[in-house]
Amino acid sequence: MTSTSPSFIELRDTAMACTACRLAESRTNVVFGVGDHEAKLMLVGEAPGKNEDLQGEPFVGAAGRLLDELLAEIGVARREVYIANVLKCRPPGNRDPREDEIDSCKGYLREQIRMIRPEVVVTLGNFATKLLLPTDTGITRMRGRRFDWWLGATLIPTFHPAAALRGRPQVREQMVEDFALVAQVLEERSTAGEVGEEVQTTLGLA
Ligand code: URA
Repeated sequence: MTSTSPSFIELRDTAMACTACRLAESRTNVVFGVGDHEAKLMLVGEAPGKNEDLQGEPFVGAAGRLLDELLAEIGVARREVYIANVLKCRPPGNRDPREDEIDSCKGYLREQIRMIRPEVVVTLGNFATKLLLPTDTGITRMRGRRFDWWLGATLIPTFHPAAALRGRPQVREQMVEDFALVAQVLEERSTAGEVGEEVQTTLGLA
């Protein structure tokens, strides 16, 4: 999927004009998502905050800087990944997303994932994890595990970066561990891809 693909542009245009829930009334900008449309790694957060609402881009505040640091630790730049949220519009006062808002919005995320087809999806915090797996188990118990997921992707839950900014230093350390797992899975998958091609050639199926 390239950035100029008609279906991706169409999806974005539809989201930009979306009035499916009450958040359309209070938003400044729709925060659709940002990054490489052919990314192997996709990060899914909760919802835009104040800075994101003003700038129209996900994770541009303090939480975003931490995310950039965590990516840098595994040698990945922000522009190489795709970043989106469960909700595309900011809940007033950064309150939690409501169920009907998630229901109205989740189709956009589903289509983003279907079009980008990342190899690894990282859910940041409870809302993204509970929507995408789906599970009732909290993030403290889900984080750092790998799940075989939709479209052959591997899903890895971790904390929301805001939790690391607010919480004990241990939360950041655990996020560093979780991102190391992300790097490991990306590496494994690229090696497996090479083996797969080799096998195909050997069998004469290429
Ligand atoms: N928190 C999120 O979940 N997403 C953002 O884009 C910013 C902060």
